[in-house]
Amino acid sequence: MGEDFKIAVIPGDGIGPEVVREALGVLEKIAVTSGHRFTIKELLAGGCAIDATGRPLPPETVQACRESDAVLLGAVGGEKWDGLPGDQRPEMALLGLRGQLGLYANLRPAFLYQQLKEACPLKPEIIGDQIDLMVVRELTGGIYFGPRGRSKQDSREQAFDTEIYSEGEVERIARIAFDIARQRNSKVTSVDKANILESSRLWREVVIRVSQDFPEVKLNHLYVDNAAMQMVRDPKQFDVIVTSNLFGDILSDEAGMITGSIGMLPSASLGEGNFGLYEPVHGSAPDLAGKDQANPLATILSVAMMLRYSFNLSAEAAAIKQAVERVLAAGYRTGDIMSPGKTLVGTEQIGKLVTSFI
Ligand code: NAD
Repeated sequence: MGEDFKIAVIPGDGIGPEVVREALGVLEKIAVTSGHRFTIKELLAGGCAIDATGRPLPPETVQACRESDAVLLGAVGGEKWDGLPGDQRPEMALLGLRGQLGLYANLRPAFLYQQLKEACPLKPEIIGDQIDLMVVRELTGGIYFGPRGRSKQDSREQAFDTEIYSEGEVERIARIAFDIARQRNSKVTSVDKANILESSRLWREVVIRVSQDFPEVKLNHLYVDNAAMQMVRDPKQFDVIVTSNLFGDILSDEAGMITGSIGMLPSASLGEGNFGLYEPVHGSAPDLAGKDQANPLATILSVAMMLRYSFNLSAEAAAIKQAVERVLAAGYRTGDIMSPGKTLVGTEQIGKLVTSFI
């Protein structure tokens, strides 16, 4: 007997609707091959929601997300809305969703497909056989949310932001990291700045305590400056990296760069239980919108993450990843990952190819 899953789908703006359409095509095929049922509810957020309702994140959208098992999001934003004040811009929908849905763990895998090795800026001897790491970033705490302010000192301005973490915040993100490592290569690297920062010392203590519940997972610690260096010196040493909001913001972009194109990068933001929001790392790419040129693989791979982390369907998730690999191996490329001798295809065609290879 197949299971029923409810998915809130937010196509958004720019290339969002195009890449989401292809990802849903792949999901339909998974429904056929697996016998599970996926009920889709399409919702507004971002610029299109501003046009339709006057606000970037209508309360009905948040409510419908809460009533779902997972959320799939394309991308939001575009020039049309760039003139709006900060708190009314499409991108506010993203912060609103993360906050209101309690999504505190951001997962960004950096996986270099063998077929795209030439897109990686690192030397072949550094890449070796495989780069496959996962950055687990704390998403709702730390300096982005701590006390902040500006004041005047001798008629000159000063400003401050505060890095602040509670034991509970570190504990829950650490648990997610160890849990994921257990399903991968059983290694966690915790990144902090414990030689300088008090908040990092607490971070390290709590991570060590949580690690005792996961004796099969190996733990090591790196200072963030060293971690940034190791990422380009020897990325193969990493399996799961767990770190704070600020450090994770920077390291996940660095890790993403290793894979060559932003069009290949999926992400997940997890909350309590198995609930999560899944989206490509890229934005709405207004330069490509409506041209059938966007790479939908990041969104398709985000659906694979949804199957794995929210629905516990790891075989189906693996089937999607394998289909992507086979499409690349057969030489098909969208513009962003094109190289000489390969076959250039559009958004729709590469989506159909992935579907047909499942
Ligand atoms: P972007 O990610 O949209 O585009 C950056 C570059 O990457 C562009 O050259 C674009 O053509 C290319 N690109 C992006 N996705 C691609 C894909 N799937 N296939 C091929 N090429 C792709 O970032 P930007 O240009 O800085 O921002 C554009 C808009 O998106 C802005 O309004 C921004 O605020 C918004 N944005 C939204 C999100 C989100 O929804 N999560 C994230 C970042 C930016």
